[in-house]
Amino acid sequence: MKVTIVGCSGSYPGPDSPASCYLIEADGFRMLLDLGSGSLGALQRHIGLYDVDAICLSHLHADHCLDICGYHVARTYGPEAPYPVVPVYAPAAAPGRLAAAYGMPEEPGLETAFDFVALAPGSFQIGPFTLTAGLVNHPVEAYGFRVANGGACVAYSGDTGESNELVKLATGADLLLCEASFIEAPDLPSGLHLTGRQAAEHAAKADVGRLVLTHLVPWNDQAVVLDEAAGGGYDGPVELARSGAVYDLA
Ligand SMILES: [Zn+2]
Ligand SMILES: [Zn+2]
Repeated sequence: MKVTIVGCSGSYPGPDSPASCYLIEADGFRMLLDLGSGSLGALQRHIGLYDVDAICLSHLHADHCLDICGYHVARTYGPEAPYPVVPVYAPAAAPGRLAAAYGMPEEPGLETAFDFVALAPGSFQIGPFTLTAGLVNHPVEAYGFRVANGGACVAYSGDTGESNELVKLATGADLLLCEASFIEAPDLPSGLHLTGRQAAEHAAKADVGRLVLTHLVPWNDQAVVLDEAAGGGYDGPVELARSGAVYDLA
């Protein structure tokens, strides 16, 4: 299984990365976790525009889903349209929300390009992957994901505050892509995002093989985020996410 970080900028695109998007590949099947603002452009550095087999949206904040709108144009009106419809696993409100964002009535919505499937907690098969979705701790319906293929496993936090569900999803994973949106400060809101230290605490509890800090908000000093992760009691390798980074999981 190959994991490529397409976009890792938190909340809005930064100068060096689009917002959230992760490409997971195995057995020739290509799946995206999130398709946030700006990510459709960077995706094309890694695969062809039409090579996506499935999309999973962690939640419906713009920095995780909004490039579905541009991708709808590409798949509906591109030079060899119509292209095969792509399944989009997302919170149940996605068809209406994304049709509204596009400026389309809910019927037909974006169904020329996408087949929306409502997410619920649990495990199911997508191509060669076993995907487990779990509800995490964010102000809207939001999922973390565990993706397994053969003996390899990656977990992704989506956006979350402290979450036992995230620990469960990540348990024993080779790689945890964990958000670290906050710098430590008094009175941080709960149920929203994690600091680097909290991300590392989740990684330690889940005993993951590698921690990558992601959803990095451009106004933060990322060196501080990485520094704070050192205080989370996790003794495996920790690094900051970078657009274009590739992880080959055996
Ligand atoms: Zn976000
Ligand atoms: Zn969010």
